[in-house]
Amino acid sequence: MERPNAWNQYDDQALQAVEKAARGYKNYLDHGKTERECAAEAIEIAKAAGYTDLNAAIAAGKAVQPGDKYYAVQMGKAVMLFHVGRQTLDKGLNIVGAHIDSPRIDLKQNPFYEDTDIAYADTHYYGGIKKYQWVARPLALHGVVAKKDGTLVNVVIGEDEDDPVVGISDLLIHLSQEQMAKKASEVIGGEGLDIMLAGRPLKDEEKEPVKAMLLRILRDRYGLEEEDMLSAEIEAVPAGKARDFGLDRSMIMGYGHDDRVCAYAEIEAMMTLPPVPEYTCCCLLADKEEIGSVGATGMRAQYFENAVAELLALMGQGGDLMLRRALANSRMLSCDVSAGYDPLYAAAFEKKNAAILGHGVTYNKFTGSRGKSGSNDANAEFIGRVRKVMDDHGIAWQTAELGKVDVGGGGTIAYICALYGMEVIDSGVPVLSMHAPHEIISKADLYEAIRAYTAFLTDMGQR
Ligand code: MN
Ligand code: MN
Repeated sequence: MERPNAWNQYDDQALQAVEKAARGYKNYLDHGKTERECAAEAIEIAKAAGYTDLNAAIAAGKAVQPGDKYYAVQMGKAVMLFHVGRQTLDKGLNIVGAHIDSPRIDLKQNPFYEDTDIAYADTHYYGGIKKYQWVARPLALHGVVAKKDGTLVNVVIGEDEDDPVVGISDLLIHLSQEQMAKKASEVIGGEGLDIMLAGRPLKDEEKEPVKAMLLRILRDRYGLEEEDMLSAEIEAVPAGKARDFGLDRSMIMGYGHDDRVCAYAEIEAMMTLPPVPEYTCCCLLADKEEIGSVGATGMRAQYFENAVAELLALMGQGGDLMLRRALANSRMLSCDVSAGYDPLYAAAFEKKNAAILGHGVTYNKFTGSRGKSGSNDANAEFIGRVRKVMDDHGIAWQTAELGKVDVGGGGTIAYICALYGMEVIDSGVPVLSMHAPHEIISKADLYEAIRAYTAFLTDMGQR
């Protein structure tokens, strides 16, 4: 049961559309290196398409009508877009949900120290990373510093051509006999991921003169004191832009495909809906998926159901029962990247149940590990209906598992949304080198994801 390669079915017009999607996506990646930046970008795109702030509608007690478009933001890190449909909300929403946080290296709250005339930042990594991949490469610093007076200072260092970059050193090969004999998981420890920030002393400063130089720069350039780092969120991410990959330019190499490629495909799909869709369509961009969907901006928090409750109230259908019906009757694609089959690591995959690059958007009935633990395991009946929508629209799609049984595993936000009783299946773009500083996707799979999510939002109906 082989699935065809999507590239084979493209004519010149389709190839141009693939390239256009790739350009838009690379631009989204280049401006979205953190969850906050990705959220802000999504809101910009939505505003330009006529979306307005749900909070303003709530404050004004506006009567919500079919065709209305709203965005809602949770602490600047999670975003929901709603495009109100013809049917009442108790018939359920068509939802596409992705996450906009990616693995990275966060600065600690008390980060700065000096050792042997080098100033460092101590860090705590975020999400699942192979630590050895993050040394000896250019890193950029992105984030915010919240000052006591309530002002928020935005920081982006290392992305402009003229910007300096920072990074983590590695031991020279000449002296690495002991290091090279270690297990890969022990080559670099979590406390070894300290970022070099400065290497020149502040003249005539006696105590920690290089750190003093660093603090002087932070004060002069950003108006920051060392204590301000106590209320900062600074993330070290790979510096530089996403690039076309391969001599045929069929792929994209970039930081954060997981899961910004699905987030971008969702946003694009939302922007192409008819003026009044049949069912209310929702794009969910969640934070904190990489550390278990925790916290007030993770999918386990209640901002999504709160927003739906507010919408219902503004439609004159408020109340707990209507909310429960709206959520339970919803249909959702949990849009998250899939493990692309990698011939160099064939032993990790079971090939006929693996996602192949260029073979289209991938559906995972289940994820999880050790006997599907932690997975959602979508209903066969729902998958049958999804198949029909995909085939009716001529989407290139495939099914996959996350590698061989018992080799490892992973999870998504699918099981959390499924708790409401809604139909959910995982759907995403295959990725190579997932969670590495630079991941690889096929442009064809991005294009098919956009088409798939558009078809799902427009055509998926009730049970
Ligand atoms: Mn993911
Ligand atoms: Mn991930």
